[in-house]
Amino acid sequence: MNKNYDQNNIFAKILNSEISCTKIDENDNAFAFLDINPQSHIHILIIPKKPYINIYDFNKNASAKEILDFWKLVNNLIEKQNITEKGFRIITNSGKDGNQDVMHFHIHLLGGKNLGRMITLNS
Ligand code: 5GP
Repeated sequence: MNKNYDQNNIFAKILNSEISCTKIDENDNAFAFLDINPQSHIHILIIPKKPYINIYDFNKNASAKEILDFWKLVNNLIEKQNITEKGFRIITNSGKDGNQDVMHFHIHLLGGKNLGRMITLNS
């Protein structure tokens, strides 16, 4: 485990059932649940079951099977949500400049409406 991984982060607590969530789907290595503060009609969080801080940590240190299972779950969700044709957006925030709040790697799967332009740079 990355020495900087905080084992008390909220998603670690969701994984060990200390905190409840609305589960959507899971497989051996990944877990999907609804975001508590949805930013779109569809707003699902997908996380690896093992402890990785961000996408860099995950890509660098997860096994090939973990990485494959993670992205398989993402594609299964895209199919089940019926957004393969209509489209969607995937976001992953990392670190301070990325404004990451929860320090367990996750991606946001957003869809169900037109999501507008990707990003606004304020300064
Ligand atoms: P980040 O800013 O780290 O990319 O996103 C963290 C996300 O986790 C936010 O969209 C926030 O709404 C969501 N979140 C924070 N706490 C909880 C929680 O206890 N349960 C669920 N389901 N989502 C949470």
